[in-house]
Amino acid sequence: MTARLPALVVGGGPAGAAAAIALARAGAQVHLLDRRSGPHDGVCGGFLGWDALAALGDLGVDAVALGARPIRRLRLVADGRHLELPLPHVAAGLSRRTLDEALMARAARAGAVVQRGRAVRAADPAARSIRFDDGGQLAGDALFLATGKHELRGLARDLTGRREPPCVGFRATLPGSADLTGVIEMHLFDGGYAGLLLQEDGTANLCLSVARDRLSDGVPALMQAIMAEAPHLARRMAGKMPPSFEAIAGVPYGWRAAASVPGLFRIGDQGAVIASLAGDGIAIALHSGTSAAQAYLRGGPQAAMGWQDQWRRRSRRPLAIAEALRHGAAGPWGRGLLMRLLGLMPGLGVQAALLTRISAPRTGGRKSASRSAHRPG
Ligand SMILES: Cc1cc2nc3c(=O)[nH]c(=O)nc-3n(C[C@H](O)[C@H](O)[C@H](O)COP(=O)(O)OP(=O)(O)OC[C@H]3O[C@@H](n4cnc5c(N)ncnc54)[C@H](O)[C@@H]3O)c2cc1C
Repeated sequence: MTARLPALVVGGGPAGAAAAIALARAGAQVHLLDRRSGPHDGVCGGFLGWDALAALGDLGVDAVALGARPIRRLRLVADGRHLELPLPHVAAGLSRRTLDEALMARAARAGAVVQRGRAVRAADPAARSIRFDDGGQLAGDALFLATGKHELRGLARDLTGRREPPCVGFRATLPGSADLTGVIEMHLFDGGYAGLLLQEDGTANLCLSVARDRLSDGVPALMQAIMAEAPHLARRMAGKMPPSFEAIAGVPYGWRAAASVPGLFRIGDQGAVIASLAGDGIAIALHSGTSAAQAYLRGGPQAAMGWQDQWRRRSRRPLAIAEALRHGAAGPWGRGLLMRLLGLMPGLGVQAALLTRISAPRTGGRKSASRSAHRPG
């Protein structure tokens, strides 16, 4: 038999956890389901922009108390050139394992029912129901889809018409290094980039994003080729492939969800996928989760269509600018131009960093949620 539940959030990354916290704080019944049973480092650079830090604070998560390392400068390394640019505000580096655990714990403390190790196999958007591997089902008043890069049967992203194949991402842990203190270091190379920063335990998080066509000869050949193009990165990697790394295929940068149906809110990477070199994916995930929850609390399931449409419009410019930067940096000509321009006018880097942000209204989760008209559950 199908049990009726008020709000279902599928995926416990930043988007799903933010939505669950906002809903639970307002007194709504919410179930947050994540397929991972424990702490996990997904493919992510771990860069928390100032907007992400503020959004976390609003949700009651103190990144600094979790050990996040402050970042004040961007170091760009490309084709033998180095540049160091100030960031407009203080950012931070934190592992996703720590961040996601803190967010899910916060959701549980706020009153959400958090189920870990619970993989959702498929969804039926018309019935707003989800199905598990064991055949069990849950139906809800609303469905918040927050599975990140992963597609859910019944709600897979529509990628028809995209000319570029999705990119591939890798993440590994490297030994820390004192010269990474206060810095996010980005190495630009053909078809992608690598980012490095210090995380809370003093190790370095290495994350790469690469065009899929560079993978034709396999991962070891790709890493060797990248190290040959980026000798400074090769030194950081001690000239060899990291012994273990996480990988993800199918990252559709620039994609935005179109229209929705009543009760379905696509949040985080399921709503809009910003190029990772902008370092804004976590902030967007947090903002979209919170703002979708607030829309639902105000207007119920019918608010989904309007919210999704508004989020699509709001994310257009930041995603377009991030795409222009990504494509520009991926080839030698554009990369050379970018490095020359930034060398002459470092302020342009600050502007670019600001223009890729989706700022959310600073409503303060608890206050705005308690003003809600719709009282589910
Ligand atoms: C190479 C790379 C580097 C990046 N670096 C940065 C960075 O430094 N800073 C930044 O801000 N952004 C970065 N991003 C982007 C950022 O990682 C994402 O935008 C962000 O994680 C999106 O959050 P989310 O909650 O939507 O999804 P995710 O963080 O992917 O979370 C999705 C959750 O859903 C769960 N899940 C998936 N499928 C199911 C299922 N079927 N059932 C139940 N649970 C499920 C997963 O276990 C996971 O916990 C990077 C992205 C890439 C590809």
